[in-house]
Amino acid sequence: GSVLIGGGTGFIGSALRNVLKSKGYGVTVISRMPGPSRISWNELNHKGLPKDTTAVVNLAGQNVMDFTRRWTAGFKQNVYNSRVNTTATLAKLISEAVEKPSVFVTISGVGAYKPDPQKEYTEESPCGEFDFFSKLCKDWEKAAELNCDAKQKCRVVTIRSGVVLGREGGMIKQLYLPFYLGLGGPIGTGNQYMPWIHIDDLTSLIVYAIENPKVEGVLNGVAPVPCTNKEFSLAFGKALHRPAFIPIPSIVFDILLNKERAIMVTEGQKVIPKNTLSSGFKYKYQNIEVACKSLVA
Ligand code: NDP
Repeated sequence: GSVLIGGGTGFIGSALRNVLKSKGYGVTVISRMPGPSRISWNELNHKGLPKDTTAVVNLAGQNVMDFTRRWTAGFKQNVYNSRVNTTATLAKLISEAVEKPSVFVTISGVGAYKPDPQKEYTEESPCGEFDFFSKLCKDWEKAAELNCDAKQKCRVVTIRSGVVLGREGGMIKQLYLPFYLGLGGPIGTGNQYMPWIHIDDLTSLIVYAIENPKVEGVLNGVAPVPCTNKEFSLAFGKALHRPAFIPIPSIVFDILLNKERAIMVTEGQKVIPKNTLSSGFKYKYQNIEVACKSLVA
């Protein structure tokens, strides 16, 4: 088969490409930068899906946690458009294609669920529209919907991912040095939940969604054993053999990131991967200690 990946140059996209290639899939990446085995969003819009595309995955999105970018209206628009418009473009092209891929896998975030110290969320829990991220997730997921007659021919799978843990990017890349220097620690009380998934499990889950014709709809992309921010800090510090108990007050993040964006780290939600588990998917990294050990090995 041949897989088309929007944002396939990124942290998750690169890891997915490697897994797909090792399994013998052909891979084409949609990118803003030209290169071999790549097409641009413009080209895609003009020419439609590449011939013989059997699966489409969208992992495009302006990095929200780019500390060098201020949280301005313009930046927020980039964050929104780079996710919602790219997903909508792919949904439209799939709906229009004569020969359709058999599956469309998209990503969304656990920000769809309202941060809460106790509540447990599964895929069936209602998601409100209470802040920027919940509205983004709602529109992002809605953009993946195909028009009616395309629906019967192409499964749509949406993975609501927790923070993705891997050496090559995302949160761990940003935290590695401070934790290595023994300066790591919980954010605020550290009692907020931190839904997470190991990069290997996320890429396996995407491949599972591509290959398993029974998988459809929303899957929570989070490890089965939830952990708090404090539990993560201790586990990552321990894996690095460094102390990690100096808390960083939430207000530091509120000031550095803007309060609206900082809730991604200062607050959290307890998310259960009910559909993911009942779909038969098997995790490699179930709990945070094992995951953290693999990140420093
Ligand atoms: P990266 O930032 O590593 O990669 C995202 C890719 O999106 C880039 O390679 C880039 O491709 C493309 N992109 C960036 N900005 C824009 C833009 N303005 N317009 C169009 N395309 C753009 O992100 P990740 O791999 O970490 O994440 C991928 C997706 O998964 C994102 O949508 C993210 O929100 C979501 N996600 C990630 C989590 C994480 O912890 N990493 C957690 C939950 C969800 P190019 O430069 O080639 O065009």
